[in-house]
Amino acid sequence: MKEAKAQIDALKEELNRWNYQYYVLDAPVATDYDYDRKLRELEQLEAEHPELVTPDSPTQRVGGEAISAFAEVTHEVPLLSLQDVFDGGELTAFDQRVRESAETVRYVAEPKVDGLSVALEYLDGVFVRGATRGDGQVGEDVTENLRTVRSIPMKLTGAPHRLIVRGECYISRERFAKLNDQRELEGEPLFANPRNAAAGSLRQLDPKIAAKRMLDCIIFNIQLSDGPAFETDSQALDYLETLQFRVIPHPVFETLGEVSQWISALGEERERYPFDIDGAVVKLDSLPERELLGSTAKFPRWAVAWKYPPEQKPTKVLDIVVQVGRTGVLTPKAVVEPVRLAGTTVTNATLHNQDFITDKDIRIGDTVIVQKAGEIIPQVVSVELSKRQEGSKPYFLPAVCPVCGAPVERDPDGAAVRCTGAECPAQLMRNLTHFASRDAMDIEGLGPAVVESLVNAGLVKTPADLYRLDAKTVAELDRMGEKSAENLLNVLEKSKQNDLSKLLCAFGIRQVGSKAAKVLARQFGSLDRLMEATEEELTTVDDIGAITAQSIVRWFANPQSQHLIKSLREAGLNFQSTEEKPGEKLKGLTFVLTGTLAQMKRSEAKKLIEQNGGKVSGSVSKKTSYVVAGEAAGSKLTKAQSLGVPILTEGELLNLLNLTD
Ligand code: AMP
Repeated sequence: MKEAKAQIDALKEELNRWNYQYYVLDAPVATDYDYDRKLRELEQLEAEHPELVTPDSPTQRVGGEAISAFAEVTHEVPLLSLQDVFDGGELTAFDQRVRESAETVRYVAEPKVDGLSVALEYLDGVFVRGATRGDGQVGEDVTENLRTVRSIPMKLTGAPHRLIVRGECYISRERFAKLNDQRELEGEPLFANPRNAAAGSLRQLDPKIAAKRMLDCIIFNIQLSDGPAFETDSQALDYLETLQFRVIPHPVFETLGEVSQWISALGEERERYPFDIDGAVVKLDSLPERELLGSTAKFPRWAVAWKYPPEQKPTKVLDIVVQVGRTGVLTPKAVVEPVRLAGTTVTNATLHNQDFITDKDIRIGDTVIVQKAGEIIPQVVSVELSKRQEGSKPYFLPAVCPVCGAPVERDPDGAAVRCTGAECPAQLMRNLTHFASRDAMDIEGLGPAVVESLVNAGLVKTPADLYRLDAKTVAELDRMGEKSAENLLNVLEKSKQNDLSKLLCAFGIRQVGSKAAKVLARQFGSLDRLMEATEEELTTVDDIGAITAQSIVRWFANPQSQHLIKSLREAGLNFQSTEEKPGEKLKGLTFVLTGTLAQMKRSEAKKLIEQNGGKVSGSVSKKTSYVVAGEAAGSKLTKAQSLGVPILTEGELLNLLNLTD
């Protein structure tokens, strides 16, 4: 037993040292092969002696059990934010403020790493807890995820009894690029930037996922320590280096001029760092002087963060291409001459929409200024008009969808331009998922994954194809089997009898959700009748406005919609509605219900009023026609009285409807 412990300790010591040399010093001494072999040896010994497994063992870095939520951690020393400065004037003003109270002024300057702040806590040299910054006072306990970060030492030698350090967690640019490549392959949404990727990874409830993301951590402060006391921050950071932390570069300068020079140099060189740098932090070096200056509730008075503007470069627009998204929106993209920008080679830039292009008058052949500010795809900032080629023409999005040829239409309430094709292949996946959703045809078992398999197998090209599927083919799909295929076909068969209101909702006509679909089905009774309705006729229906009416008429006029309807009719779908037409007795009247009614629930009274063409509102105004007051009616009744709104008893309401015996 003793022997096993000694063996385990020796292996841990060696592996931790290799780890430090590899991840902190960037100077590997052991080969991956040797590392993996020793790790295996340690794993085997620990398996034989589970009582000897300690949290600081390198075997514990692969990620433990997933949890359901993070616990809160109240920071003993708050993790403050930093006051930003954007120009030389603001930096000088800071220097002057500092010099008013501090006697000897020396500054430490550090790169501002664009990641997430964390506090790491050590007890007798062992990493015991790590937390996110949160709001600076209270963060989240992400200890298990931080254990997977190889540059965070799990065990310190010669450390004080208690030590809390603060650092920045990040994903290196190189890792980030690989991570996004992999996500693209797997069809997962891409991370916008390394910072978002790091944030998402650190807040993973499953540490095994966090482990795969390969986070890194760089330390920039001692929050709390009962170890040696230091006069300056730079000495404290040097000390952390001896404890084998990866520590932020921290040169010290005597004058503001030197600091400014360093800031400019860092700005030029920041592409060469492995992590994103969004600024430079300037801090007073003397710790006693820091005490004297103190902090506001949010920022220390002894430090500022210089923010770099995003890098910009000129390049040429070679072409403008248009993509059609899953929701049918046409998105223009500029294909540009390749240019290096913020560490990556840029070959295209987003143009957002027609308004953006028109606003900046971006044309094919133009020289434009591009910048990257936190997103993957760069932005076009402006056009260099002096370099515009003769004969260039303003750019307009195509009038028909580049994928299916259906006319495009601009959203009445926004800048988006959409394809109107009900059978457009670009929108198929989303159209089918919507078609099957609960408010629409409610086809249980036809979620996004099954839709994807059906589409990828080429079995379904329009929603009508769903009704031509046969059980044998479906059973052969990924993740399906005979039983689930049979179930799906049964549900599909049953859905043919759905009320027209569900089918109308399933069409995905813009502005027509489940509520409008119900109103329309109730009013027109059949699809054929609705298809004949003119815009004027539609606008006379309650709840249907001019924009919705126009959208409906256009949708039915579209050849792709007509083709879809024809195929659905052939498949035998029900085009009729059994939704009852509302009565007219209470047409044009608005009711407010208050208090407890004797003969029915409030919800029943509401239904009754609506069935008779009336409306029910939640609050009393001058426009309220009647307030129906039951037992123990409250403020609504008083308000009705003060506004002179007529008040009905329950019996009087029923009288109005001739429902009393
Ligand atoms: P901001 O988020 O713009 O308020 O800037 C403050 C944040 O900068 C802190 O919460 C830290 O997460 C981060 N930061 C990155 N590098 C450093 C550094 N060297 N010194 C202090 N803070 C830093």
